[in-house]
Amino acid sequence: MINKLCIVGIGLIGGSLARALKAAEFVDHVVAVGRDVAHLERAVELGVADSFNTSISEAASDADVVIVAVPVGSMKAVFAELAGSIKPGAVITDVGSVKGNVVSDARDALGEQLSCFVPGHPIAGTEQSGVEASFAELYQGQRVILTPLEETLPDATQTVTQMWHAAGADVVSLSVEHHDEVLAATSHLPHALAYTLVDTLAQMHEHREIFQFAAGGFKDFTRIASSDPQMWHDICLNNREALLDMLNRFSKDISKLTKAIETQDSEFILKLFNRAKTARDQNC
Ligand code: NAP
Repeated sequence: MINKLCIVGIGLIGGSLARALKAAEFVDHVVAVGRDVAHLERAVELGVADSFNTSISEAASDADVVIVAVPVGSMKAVFAELAGSIKPGAVITDVGSVKGNVVSDARDALGEQLSCFVPGHPIAGTEQSGVEASFAELYQGQRVILTPLEETLPDATQTVTQMWHAAGADVVSLSVEHHDEVLAATSHLPHALAYTLVDTLAQMHEHREIFQFAAGGFKDFTRIASSDPQMWHDICLNNREALLDMLNRFSKDISKLTKAIETQDSEFILKLFNRAKTARDQNC
């Protein structure tokens, strides 16, 4: 049970966690922090938060747990404000989609308080953003990856694990590096491809007509291109090396397919499509 929970960034991810923890009666008071008072007032109106504050240090000063749920490019500034503001024994965690750069930002900003920081990432979300899009069931049966550091206190990791269990999630542990490699492949590459595919089509002269004829397959493939551009800009630049590896690998494979179509290499095309279908049918 958490007495006072401070959520910096009460959007889809922070708001859904607040709703889930309230529904599970795992939290007594949620204070929301953000930049825009209208968003914070809405969070209170919707019952997602009990109070709000635009000052991170004020809101965090008596919190038992602080969740940082802002875009990853804004986390460093938030950690800097949290340093020195939190009470002894309080725990800080985050939900950022990238862990290497977030951990390095936390290390720079938090100093000795790094021991109460538990890096985390829920593998759940939608293409919507903002508190209006949040819902209590988002994490039910979904995975949350924690990447505790050498310095992280075991009690802090336990508190964050219990919190995610209360929200309905399964918790797994990975190293920071492994997390960033896996997520570059399974999430960051698909988002980069979806944005690029939609943009390529949008720039074509007949784009209105093209979108008119877009069927289910196109909509399934490109749904994630409706995600928040700032958030994905931050993710791409903060997981640059792992994402570049995946983009280079994908570019080589798409060049091979292009060549096979040019040369009408049926064997290559059928083998590739069959391998991919089997892999998807077995694993997804
Ligand atoms: P979101 O719906 O846009 O929410 C972000 C919130 O952060 C907004 O309420 C925004 O409110 C606030 N904010 C932004 N910059 C801030 C700052 N500098 N200081 C204080 N508040 C700030 O985004 P989200 O989808 O919840 O994503 C939040 C985090 O979760 C990101 O780090 C993302 O990588 C991670 N994540 C997202 C997903 C997903 O599918 N969406 C999945 C897993 C993890 P104001 O504009 O009012 O300040």
